[in-house]
Amino acid sequence: MAKYTLPDLPYDFEALEPHISAKIMELHHDKHHQAYVTGANTALDQLAEARDSGNLANVNKLEKDLAFNLGGHVNHSIFWTNLSPNGGGRPEGNELAAAIDEFFGGFEKFQAHFTAAATGIQGSGWAVLSWDAIGEQLIIQQLFDQQSNTAQGTVPIFQLDMWEHAFYLDYLNVKADYVKAVWNIADWSNVQERFTAAREKTAGLLVLS
Ligand code: FE
Repeated sequence: MAKYTLPDLPYDFEALEPHISAKIMELHHDKHHQAYVTGANTALDQLAEARDSGNLANVNKLEKDLAFNLGGHVNHSIFWTNLSPNGGGRPEGNELAAAIDEFFGGFEKFQAHFTAAATGIQGSGWAVLSWDAIGEQLIIQQLFDQQSNTAQGTVPIFQLDMWEHAFYLDYLNVKADYVKAVWNIADWSNVQERFTAAREKTAGLLVLS
């Protein structure tokens, strides 16, 4: 039985218009995200077959397939919930707002840093606001492809898909306009929930010394 399944979107395809079109949302969720789910299940099945047969000659390829496709599944699953037709504005009067002030020097500085990280990605990838469980701080990371360039022990709480499939139909090559539009649909209540869970569930988990 398939281990991973495609989650439903928490809103209709057209719900994020005019910031992200229904066409993009439908393709992105039903085709792209589905492909990562299928790919992750296939990689798991093929790894199980390889163990059973004892033929592990393809292990490098299969591990890469698993990382890429499971990464894609996780990334998109978080991304959908980070957005809402009722989003926008900024976190206010909560722990997330205070943490953004503490670790980035204010919301505007966070926003500028996150935007630069997003629009500056070389190739395909994501901008990610993460809880660093070792440093006990929020950090911004550039995630390459679906799985590279981030540290173990960081928990994503807000992430933005910067693959061309996420914006090209609506914004062509103008990444900055896409990022600007996303600020209107960022669901800070979801990010606050993820922030609380990330801190509570990783407290004391990663001890390096
Ligand atoms: Fe995507």
